Amino acid sequence: MSDNKQLWRKNLINIEPYVAGEQPKNDRIIKLNANENPYPPAPSVQKILNSIDAAELKKYPSADAVPLKKALAERYGLEPENVFCGNGSDDVLATAFRAFFNSDKPIVYPDITYSFYPVWCELLKIPYVTKAVNKDFEIDVKDYYEENGGVVIPNPNAPTSIGVGKDFIVDLLEHNKDCIVIIDEAYADFGKYSCVELIKEYDNLIVTQTFSKSRSLAGMRVGMAFAQPELIKYMQAVKDSYNSYPLDQIAIAAASECLKDEEYFSETVEKIKKTRDEGKEILREMGFKVFDSETNFLFASHNKYPAKEIFEFVREKGIFIRYFNKPLIDNFLRITVGTDEEMNMLYSAIREFLSSKNS
Ligand code: PMP
Repeated sequence: MSDNKQLWRKNLINIEPYVAGEQPKNDRIIKLNANENPYPPAPSVQKILNSIDAAELKKYPSADAVPLKKALAERYGLEPENVFCGNGSDDVLATAFRAFFNSDKPIVYPDITYSFYPVWCELLKIPYVTKAVNKDFEIDVKDYYEENGGVVIPNPNAPTSIGVGKDFIVDLLEHNKDCIVIIDEAYADFGKYSCVELIKEYDNLIVTQTFSKSRSLAGMRVGMAFAQPELIKYMQAVKDSYNSYPLDQIAIAAASECLKDEEYFSETVEKIKKTRDEGKEILREMGFKVFDSETNFLFASHNKYPAKEIFEFVREKGIFIRYFNKPLIDNFLRITVGTDEEMNMLYSAIREFLSSKNS
């Protein structure tokens, strides 16, 4: 083979893909590694799924997910023109990156954050810089005052679980009027503040959310963005340029239905928050540093034993939590909040680990 033939290799895309939490097939394991909701979706979702007429599936779904946009607009006090829907918020975020991060200047995000951002930047050839969080993993808004090609910050942040309030977001927006600011609110329903209200004031703000966490529909892949109509139009144009039918009929029906049961939603969210806050104390008593979480997971590091060892020990017992072998966070565990029963099994396994060390 001549060297000439190999030239194309130079142009191969060279990306490190995002690695999701393992999805083991064994039902007996306890899965606390992908920030899924331990509770099923609202009961009426099952009813709507049972009522779906397979014959209807011969037709394409509503282009533009209109029924879901309407349901979301009503729920959040917006107009359907303020809403974009995609296949999970990953799709929504990737669409926003494609639509708005086209500057020569780098986009900015924290150095500890959702690991999909660098993957999309590499894939879409978007220049980026990261800003260091402090030793307590907090983000300093002043790091985002400089001119840039766009900003993306999850609030609450992942995997740190730490949230910021309205003052931070307003400050960020006031110092970034010439670029698009994306606030990734995948976990906001478990936190203290959502900035959806600010889209009315800031025409450069995009807020993304998901049905995967607080609404227990991770398997359905439904996410959304809220913004002013002009931005939504650009996102829709990008999405329609490579995939003209955003969500399938079943996903549109299930997600719209699930929005109706506000009582079930707050009940399950509150249950998870209670288990989370109790879990934080229990882990602290066992010698862990645990951040005050505003999400459905806990980010914890033991004061004596390496995270990897604990991760491997509990994995042997059939309990899957998340360990990231990455700089700065390689001594931390990300533990999704499960049911009380699942969490008690995790605590028992950790206690067993600790006593094996002390014996
Ligand atoms: N943003 C953050 C910060 C996340 O942790 C996740 C979940 N992995 C997502 C977005 C995407 O979730 P989904 O595509 O299921 O909506």
